[in-house]
Amino acid sequence: MRLFFFTIYFTFYSLNLCFSQSIKLEMQKLKKENKKSTNIILMIADGAGLSQITAAIYKNGNKSNLENFEVVGLQKTHSANSLITDSAASGTAMACGTKTLNGAIGVDAKNRSYESILKICEKKGYNSGMIVTSSIVHATPASFYANVPSRAEYQEIAYQLSKSEVDFFIGGGEKHFIKRNDNKNLVNEMKDWEFVSNLDQFNSSTSQKVGYFISYEEPPSLIEGRKPLLDIGLNSILKKLNSRDEPFFLLVEGSQVDWGGHDNDFEFVTSEYIEFDRAIGVALKFVDENPNTLLVVTADHETGGLGITSGNIRKFNPRARFSTKGHTATMVPVFSKGVGSSEFSGIYDNTEIFYKMMLQVK
Ligand SMILES: [Zn+2]
Repeated sequence: MRLFFFTIYFTFYSLNLCFSQSIKLEMQKLKKENKKSTNIILMIADGAGLSQITAAIYKNGNKSNLENFEVVGLQKTHSANSLITDSAASGTAMACGTKTLNGAIGVDAKNRSYESILKICEKKGYNSGMIVTSSIVHATPASFYANVPSRAEYQEIAYQLSKSEVDFFIGGGEKHFIKRNDNKNLVNEMKDWEFVSNLDQFNSSTSQKVGYFISYEEPPSLIEGRKPLLDIGLNSILKKLNSRDEPFFLLVEGSQVDWGGHDNDFEFVTSEYIEFDRAIGVALKFVDENPNTLLVVTADHETGGLGITSGNIRKFNPRARFSTKGHTATMVPVFSKGVGSSEFSGIYDNTEIFYKMMLQVK
């Protein structure tokens, strides 16, 4: 009799064990499959056409991390209403897959709102991050989380970021969050977030959402004394995103190549691109270590109509001329590596960047 009860007990015990074990295995399998979903890293050097890239390569001792890419394409950058795009229309094209008017963020030419790839990914359970060297509400990053008819609505864009699903960000422009016409202090209102004041704090934070304002206004240029951050900051965000079980979407912008172009300042342009190039190195290493990743490196348009017109071959010291203080319509290159990278060869519209990345979103 005792043996009978023992057998019953043992059978239940092992059944129970089997059951919980199979659930656990199933969960592990799901996590693993999820983990295998493609991470997407989109890197945009604002205003960097082929001449900016070429000049930065020569200035960097004739080497660039871009030379590690095998797939290269070209994108046409015109907007819905102009051959010469601005960063809002081109950012929206890549983020949302629609051409729009210059100045518009996350809406089409008829002011209809579109979901960005970042938002679509978040809805599917991805994590997301952004690291930029402008303010975080500037046109390019804003295209990935905001919907406003004008890029100048910085306070509204900041408000929309405060309500967004973005998990990590590093960038400037704190004032748009705390010194506002509506007297709101968004930093205080963003209860799910931890705000840190340096990269060490960012790294050691265990919060689910972390924001790091690198400046109150727009960050200064490297020449003006900004501490190089894009590469080490990218490394920090990648570590955080990769420590989670879900895949991620990450936007990286070298924002100020464009500003150097507007200033017709060659040193400004090349120093900013060389920092961006170091960040590309960090991203490439991540792709090598995490093959379930798509890396796309591009620009939103060219700025300055730059031409390399002379230079010293022994010192690899290029000299250049700008032909405009504004943007140009020249096509910009697209470099890609990892899962789905072969989609990015050829010549296509900037809206295709969205659709080609979306092929990897499951
Ligand atoms: Zn731009």
